[in-house]
Amino acid sequence: MFTWSAQTAARELEIIGAEGAQFEVAGKGLVWDLESQVYNVAVGHRHPHVQARMIAQIETLPACAPNAVLPIRAQLGQRLAEHSGMGKAFLTSGGSEAVENAIKMARLLTGRTKVLARRHSYHGATLAVLEIAGDARRDPFAATMAPGLLIDDPYPAREPDPSTGTPSDWLASARALIEREDPETIAAILLEGFTGTNGMQHPPADFWPGIRELCDAHGILLIDDEIFSGFGRTGRWFAREHWGVRVDLMTIGKGLTSGYAPLAGVLLQPELAARFDREVLHCGLTHYAHPVSCAAALGSIEVLEQERLVDNAAAIGELFAARFDAMVARHDHVRGHRGLGLMRALELDTSAEALAAAAWERGVFLPFRGSMAWICPPLCLREHEAQTICDLLDDALTG
Ligand code: PMP
Repeated sequence: MFTWSAQTAARELEIIGAEGAQFEVAGKGLVWDLESQVYNVAVGHRHPHVQARMIAQIETLPACAPNAVLPIRAQLGQRLAEHSGMGKAFLTSGGSEAVENAIKMARLLTGRTKVLARRHSYHGATLAVLEIAGDARRDPFAATMAPGLLIDDPYPAREPDPSTGTPSDWLASARALIEREDPETIAAILLEGFTGTNGMQHPPADFWPGIRELCDAHGILLIDDEIFSGFGRTGRWFAREHWGVRVDLMTIGKGLTSGYAPLAGVLLQPELAARFDREVLHCGLTHYAHPVSCAAALGSIEVLEQERLVDNAAAIGELFAARFDAMVARHDHVRGHRGLGLMRALELDTSAEALAAAAWERGVFLPFRGSMAWICPPLCLREHEAQTICDLLDDALTG
């Protein structure tokens, strides 16, 4: 069955091939992939190095239990530690489960239960995480759920005013929520490193540092969800590098394997991970840390490094920003744009559906939600390709 759709309303897209930043649709040909499938194909489609890594692992050992000690797991753990600065990795199959495991760990580590999140946030669609985040995908199940403990995050945010000591509205809301809920009962604050399809809002300047201070003051753990924003998507390895803040736990997924195999995980600071040296880690499912997925992840990380794709995402992101400035100036119904690296949004005055349809006619697959269109191509996109995509979008806007 098709996901997130009435079956008869699903868009049937028969994909018969792919290369680089494009995929090939039956009866249509190559189209630019501005969704990187599900925002995960970081290195681009059909990269031979990732494929070779996976094939080598399939030939060596394609199946084994999550607890077995394997060279491929050790190598991947090493690379994750190098790039994230975290101490240990616990690998799962999918992103929602990674977030669930991070929450389980936070509860085990603090002995507390509550988890705070932002109103405009998404952290996955399994029942436990649907309950915690503000995303509308919780609505059909809300009757049996506790109301979320949500930080208000209107956009554009009211920035802090240092002359009067007034905090931003986001931070003021977080402070009030913590006081209201009793800080001693709060296990964690869960934030996307950079928000995905809930709006790609730039946080006010005091938000991340202020949240870190609140966590330190009250013994609350800060969980940074980098499932969407990690592995170079924002022009840094992890989006939190933009905010310069230390986090306690991090969740990763999507771009970790570039989508070549299912894998996600939780990264922990060493002192937190050390607590489980003696205490039982009550976490684990059958397919966790799958060896072929680990090979895909290692291969994808190696390509990001060798082809300098994180820097490329930053540079091509600037190119898009400049071209979008021109589109805002030229087209009355384009209200603005925002984003970081290759995680960008164009905001229209109307629904973005007509723009997505016009883009599709011109060979561009453009995801959208409401009045926002998302521009999230694979990180391997080259300058001339980005210019071509912008020409096509500009034409579609004229349309
Ligand atoms: N957290 C964030 C920030 C995400 O963007 C997503 C997926 N869109 C998830 C968690 C859930 O990941 P998955 O779909 O792999 O369960």
